[in-house]
Amino acid sequence: MGALASQGVVGVAGSYVDNSGIARVKTVPLRRLENAVAHGIGMSPVFDVFMFDDAITASPSSTGPVGDLRLFPDLEQLVVLAAQPGWAWAPVDRRTQEGEPHPGCQRTFARRMVDRAAERGLEVSMGFEAEWVLDAGAGDEFVPATSGPGYGMDRLIEVSDYCRDLLQVLDAQSVEVLQLHPEYAPAQFELSVAPADPVTAADRILLVRHTIRAVTGRSGMRCSFAPAMMVGGVGNGCHLHTSLWWEGRTLMSGGSGPYGLHNQAEAFVAGVLEGLPALLAIGAPSAASYLRLIPQRWAAPYRCWGRENREAAVRLAASGDQANAEVKCLDGAANPYLLVGAVLALGLDGIERALELPPEVAVDPATLSDAELAGVGAARLPSSLADALEQFRRCEALAEAMGPALFGTIVAVRETEVERFAGAPEEEIVAATRFRY
Ligand code: GLU
Ligand code: MG
Repeated sequence: MGALASQGVVGVAGSYVDNSGIARVKTVPLRRLENAVAHGIGMSPVFDVFMFDDAITASPSSTGPVGDLRLFPDLEQLVVLAAQPGWAWAPVDRRTQEGEPHPGCQRTFARRMVDRAAERGLEVSMGFEAEWVLDAGAGDEFVPATSGPGYGMDRLIEVSDYCRDLLQVLDAQSVEVLQLHPEYAPAQFELSVAPADPVTAADRILLVRHTIRAVTGRSGMRCSFAPAMMVGGVGNGCHLHTSLWWEGRTLMSGGSGPYGLHNQAEAFVAGVLEGLPALLAIGAPSAASYLRLIPQRWAAPYRCWGRENREAAVRLAASGDQANAEVKCLDGAANPYLLVGAVLALGLDGIERALELPPEVAVDPATLSDAELAGVGAARLPSSLADALEQFRRCEALAEAMGPALFGTIVAVRETEVERFAGAPEEEIVAATRFRY
C-alpha cells in the first residue's frame, strides 16, 4: 500500500465485464484495499442480468434485488493507471459471501478452462486485437474525429499526439503493444496486444479498453468499440489469436497436419470451427454485431478456415513460433473472459473428439455458392442474434463447460436483447448501441 501511496494512488478500481459486455466497477479508497483483498467488495449479483442499456432482466438463477457477492481484486494484475491520475486498477473475481467462487463469475470460468487445458499438459497463449473509432461529437450521432484515409499516414498525423500518449500510457502500465494503426472505417484505429495466458489476455484487453477510453477522453474525444457505428459500414472487430504449446514448444507448426499443425492443435481448431455458430452468442453478443457480420467487410462471417484468409472466421496466421489461429468473427461488445473460456471449451472438446479440419477455403467465401461452401463443410454464420442464440442453446460443449447458472443467465440476457430489438430498424439498433461499448 505504501508503494501505491507514494505513486499518488488514492483509489483502486475493480472492474469486471457483465454478460452483456459492459464493464462494471466498484472502487475503494487506497486505505481500504487491504480490507478488500481480505473480504472482497460488496456488489449485487443482479449485474449478471444487466443489459447493455442498464435495463434488468431475470434468469432462472437470478435473485433480483436480494443477495450479495464479493469482488476480490487480483493484486497480481494491479496496475497504476497512467491516464487516470490517482487511480490504480485490478480485475476482480466474484465470490459468494461464504468465499466460494460465484458460479456466474466469468473470470473464474475462464480460469477453469485454462486448468482444463493444463490437465492435458497444454499451455495456451492468447492475444486480442482491439478496434475502435474516435468520435468528435457530443450527441447521439457519430462524428468521425479524423478525415484521413484508412491505413493512412495522414490519419495518424491528425491524432499523432493522441497515439503517442496511448503508447506511452500503455507502456507505463506494462501492456506490451505489438502494433497500432489507422484502420479501414472512418476514424477507426486498431491496436494489438502481445499474447499471454488466456486469463491475462482477457485482463489486458479489458485494461486496454479502459485505457483507450481514458486517453481518448483526456484528448477531448469519445471512443467506441461497438460492433456497428453506422448502418452499412465496416465495424469494430475484436479478433482473438490462439496458439497451443506443449512443454514449451508450439503445436501450431512443425506437425503433420495442415500447414504443420500438430494433431492436438488441428483438433482444437476444428472444435472451435465447429462451435462457431454457438460461439457467436458470446463473441458477437449484440443485436448490432450482426450489422457488422456482413460478407466482404473483413468481419469474416463464414464458418470456414483458411491460411491468411481474412474473410474466413478462422484464419491460420503467421508461421514458426508465431503461428496461431485467429478467430475473426468476434467484436468489441464481447466479454473477453467468456470469450477465452468459450474458445478453450470448444477447442478442448475438439481434442476430446479427435476432430479433423475440413478442407481449407482459399478464396473469398462470398464468391462460392451455398453448394460449394457445403462441399467443404463451410457455411454462412448466423446472421442474427436470435439465430446465434438458438445455436448456443443447443451447444452441449458450452453448456457443460459453463455450468447451468452461467449458461442460463447468458441465454436470458441474449433473449431479452433479441426481444428488445424485435422488428427494430437497423438505424435504431445502431443508435441504441453505438456509444454503449
Ligand atoms: N474491421 C474488421 C472487423 O470488423 C477487421 C479488419 C481487419 O481484418 O483487421 O473485424
Ligand atoms: Mg483490423
